[in-house]
Amino acid sequence: MYKYAILFLALLVGCSSAPETGRSQFIVMSHAQEMKLGQEAFTKILKEEKTIKKGTQYDTMQRVGEKVALAAERLYPESVHGYKWKFALIKDKDMVNAWALPGGKCGVYTGLLPVTENEDALAIVMAHEVAHVIARHGAERSSQAIASSVIAGIAMSEMNKRDQMIVLGAYGLGIALPFSRTQETEADQIGLYIAADAGYDPREAIPLWQRMGKAGKKAPAEFLSTHPASETRIKQLRGWMPKAMMYYDTSIAHEEALKTNSKPKN
Ligand SMILES: [Zn+2]
Repeated sequence: MYKYAILFLALLVGCSSAPETGRSQFIVMSHAQEMKLGQEAFTKILKEEKTIKKGTQYDTMQRVGEKVALAAERLYPESVHGYKWKFALIKDKDMVNAWALPGGKCGVYTGLLPVTENEDALAIVMAHEVAHVIARHGAERSSQAIASSVIAGIAMSEMNKRDQMIVLGAYGLGIALPFSRTQETEADQIGLYIAADAGYDPREAIPLWQRMGKAGKKAPAEFLSTHPASETRIKQLRGWMPKAMMYYDTSIAHEEALKTNSKPKN
């Protein structure tokens, strides 16, 4: 019977590959399914958390989110599948954290804002989350959990509590599964390009991740549990910087041109 289940999974797997890196991915979930799961999880989380819906911090976050989402669509049009972006600001000053759910729903905790310090750095974090979405990391992680339980030939009822949680989490709440280190590195790279294309200075990424490293010693964050060690991360960011600067310079030149054109003629 499990033979058929494996065959079924194999048939479901599309030829998915991650944007930018071209890494081939094992995903057994349609875009419609992942958007539905993401929306359900988002509604559930927002019911439990205190969200902020107005004020300077909220306005800044919405503006950054909008610009970053537009840049993602511009840079990786084949990877943005009608995602409906939402950026929730959650009140919790002790959480130096942010998350992304399949289909474009993201959350940022107020505790992250003092660490990001400026709008460029906030954009880098938010673009990192948007990158998780467009690279379908949640669906990929869930697919791995589903497949490993099927391949191992274990019925749900025979699984231990932890495995059940993983698979149920995979179905019900994308956030239950931490991203892998490969996925985190991919989100760093894609996110850096997206932020730069949105007109945010990618050079801010280096001091930002250094600050995050220090903040993480007090409060564990999504960014530190599975993220590359900070030295590796800084080295990688430096490697991606020339391409990011190209996007940034183009974006700034474009903004300048728009400003010049919109000036009234004397
Ligand atoms: Zn991440």
